[in-house]
Amino acid sequence: MDCSKSVRKYPFLDLGLVNEPYAARLRDVCSHVIAGGRYVGGREVEEFECELAEFCGCRYAVGTANGLDALRLILLSYIALGVMSPGDEVIVPANTYIATFLAVTHAGLVPVPVESDMMSYNIDVNAIADAVTPRTRAIMPVHLYGRPCEMEVIREIANNYGLKIIEDNAQAIGAFVGAERTGHLGDAAAFSFYPTKNLGALGDAGAVTTDDAALADTVRALGNYGGNDRYDKIYCGYNSRLDPIQAAMLRIKLQDIDALNERRRAIAAIYRSRIVNKLVMLPDYGSAGHVWHQYVVRVGDREHFRRYMLRCGVETDVHYPVPPHLQSCYKNGVFSRYPITEALAREVVSLPVNPVCISLADAGDISEIINDYAC
Ligand SMILES: *Cc1c(COP(=O)(O)O)cnc(C)c1O
Repeated sequence: MDCSKSVRKYPFLDLGLVNEPYAARLRDVCSHVIAGGRYVGGREVEEFECELAEFCGCRYAVGTANGLDALRLILLSYIALGVMSPGDEVIVPANTYIATFLAVTHAGLVPVPVESDMMSYNIDVNAIADAVTPRTRAIMPVHLYGRPCEMEVIREIANNYGLKIIEDNAQAIGAFVGAERTGHLGDAAAFSFYPTKNLGALGDAGAVTTDDAALADTVRALGNYGGNDRYDKIYCGYNSRLDPIQAAMLRIKLQDIDALNERRRAIAAIYRSRIVNKLVMLPDYGSAGHVWHQYVVRVGDREHFRRYMLRCGVETDVHYPVPPHLQSCYKNGVFSRYPITEALAREVVSLPVNPVCISLADAGDISEIINDYAC
């Protein structure tokens, strides 16, 4: 196909477009918060926490400033509660966003990466048990790209070794396994509402969900300078709270998340049925509960492919070109090599999948463009 004449543009992600349908309602709730005069905590935050907990089927949700803090506060709370001690180990997938590793490091714990599964891109559950040592305290599965991990196996390993399961649910809000949502498949879960996530705020925001009352209380206390009494803090805590202006906007957008995730599935289904090019490896589809935060294919000569796509008007992205264990901040670490993760990092390409930015017809066009790709 001669793409040089193509005028049509297929944006990877245009956040202005994503939020445009909400603009009037977002302005309304912002006006409401402005007039209310309460700019940290308060009713909007409490209501959002209740709605998020209910959405996930959890007993508690606690707002945080961002997703990294949500992960970090869970770990720091387990330390405060005596479940973990500094120097203990947390099993993480080698193939993830850097935040998963940083949360563990920041808490004074040791991230122990486990290799990924080439097909699901998620943690290879068959490699987890080998990574367990007497110092392992938790497994932190990441539902990467919105695909739920194999939680039944992870639960069994966690039970065998007495480990906590902390879900990094930053990319998978609304995903499910059977009747259970991610965010309620472990002992605690962290959410990110960074603007590009499936449920995005208009700034940074995050949350922790759990059924454990002591953990929820400790996360809330640690995020509020170490306690809820104004002048007698129990812990040397942090300032990591969800702003009411973000909470108010998230409450509106949460109502649509299932419908938007369903539209992501429809786009993924079109890619699956239409793309037939031996140079482009499609992702394994997993269960129905996938929410397609990213639609990630693999291509041997990624840069060549991306240049071709761009000439045809299709923006793509890469999640992620450098795995955490190879990043500069960890170069003096003791990590071994993870060949599958490193191979994925060389080959992965994310196609447009946001249902507000591209239509089903666009997904069909993009599939054709991919089918015409040659070396
Ligand atoms: C986005 C993300 C985070 C961190 O969330 P922030 O809100 O950006 O701090 C953590 N883990 C994963 C897998 C993410 O994609």
